[in-house]
Amino acid sequence: MLEGSLLLVNTPYTSAATARLLTWIEVRYGRRPLTAVNTHFHVDALGGNAALVAAGARIYGSDATARLVASGAPPCSRRFAPPWPTGRPRRRPLPTCASCR
Ligand SMILES: [Zn+2]
Repeated sequence: MLEGSLLLVNTPYTSAATARLLTWIEVRYGRRPLTAVNTHFHVDALGGNAALVAAGARIYGSDATARLVASGAPPCSRRFAPPWPTGRPRRRPLPTCASCR
């Protein structure tokens, strides 16, 4: 990373929300080079990549994530976070999508 640059791990769900975050970052830290990491191919990790690209950020991810981004497929938008567990433990596995396997 470049000296004085910032690292963003994942993005908010949308480009609009990511643009708002980038504005806040610039107000708080000043204009700096931005590097971003997409940890996986879900909308909660890279749904705001268009705003990062527009801001000139360098974006990195695993080979699998990069391959899925390059395919043009939409990122998985299923929400995987189950309600906070109460009572009995879950007996069913959490749902998965094709890009998660
Ligand atoms: Zn996710």
